Amino acid sequence: MAYQLRHFEERELACRHCGLQGCTDELKEALDDYRDRVKLPVVVNDAFRCTVHNAAVSLVAKSQHPEGTAADIHVPGLSLQEMYDAAKRIPAFQYGGIGVYDKGFIHVDVRHGIARWAFVGNVERSASALVIG
Ligand SMILES: [Zn+2]
Ligand SMILES: [Zn+2]
Repeated sequence: MAYQLRHFEERELACRHCGLQGCTDELKEALDDYRDRVKLPVVVNDAFRCTVHNAAVSLVAKSQHPEGTAADIHVPGLSLQEMYDAAKRIPAFQYGGIGVYDKGFIHVDVRHGIARWAFVGNVERSASALVIG
């Protein structure tokens, strides 16, 4: 049986451009766990992207968003550091990808392999440009 989201609606995770759904259960569960940890509403800017939408907005070559394994999120009231620290406490994100964006959001993904980065403006940097740890 497919994973049932506890804190989000399926449409919050759907492609912003066409409404297509495609997020993996692993991502959905990790997002619910993140929400439980921060104990505050989590705003999903962008999660699943169809390839058309991804080509229009992605800054990176091999985006996780069309795979359904990534979300860009922010938590009103938390700093980038606090959002980042909370993501590192969720194993699927800790051992996956976490990107920090100076526009005020973080990217989390459940790729099986650790990746960290920051974007300052449209320039990719190491995560330490924006957060510690
Ligand atoms: Zn689309
Ligand atoms: Zn992203």
